[in-house]
Amino acid sequence: MLKFRISSKFGIMEEIRDGKPHTGIDFAMPEGTDLRAIGDAVVERVVNYGSENIGKGVILKLEDGTRAIYGHMDSISVKEGAVIKAGDLLGASGNTGHSSGAHLHFGLWKDGEYIDPTPIAEQVADLSGSLAPKALSIFEPTGAITQWLFGKTVTKTTKETAYGILEGLCEVLVELSGAIALVGGGICLLLHVGGWKGGIRWMGILTVARILILMTLGGV
Ligand SMILES: [Zn+2]
Repeated sequence: MLKFRISSKFGIMEEIRDGKPHTGIDFAMPEGTDLRAIGDAVVERVVNYGSENIGKGVILKLEDGTRAIYGHMDSISVKEGAVIKAGDLLGASGNTGHSSGAHLHFGLWKDGEYIDPTPIAEQVADLSGSLAPKALSIFEPTGAITQWLFGKTVTKTTKETAYGILEGLCEVLVELSGAIALVGGGICLLLHVGGWKGGIRWMGILTVARILILMTLGGV
């Protein structure tokens, strides 16, 4: 199952596009979702069509010359000409341009025409949202954890696997902290009402812990 639902497929005709075929696919995606590069690339163009077309967007030139187009973005955190790696943050999704709701328009342009990005839809969806980039950056500088886990030769694939595991753990931790803060906090509050003086303090501690985990690992 895709992490984000495809709300409009490639090639279909819709009135909102004045009867022209859709040049990409749309993912229903809340505003502010992190968007990342699908491959090593050069940021060929950063565009802003205002309330027209794809609004704010980024066009990447991938290594094989294919262009990847990200549209309707809320904010853009890369500059034209920047050389970036797969997975690098491009900015946040939004609802800019000619759009009827928050979504990401993703297009591929190859050899002079738009091609159907559906085969890589899962990859695009997986790269978007709570990848806990802050948590990754903690481990990125040294790679110590991945080296410790996988020995000295850390290939890109094992590194990515390690990040995948860490990301999974981060997500579990975020989920867990939410549940503990909610249920534990509630119990503490009840105990406080029942006469335990420490109840409110522990409820506060659980809430602060939850907020700290959210701030560190993201993934709201
Ligand atoms: Zn679209």
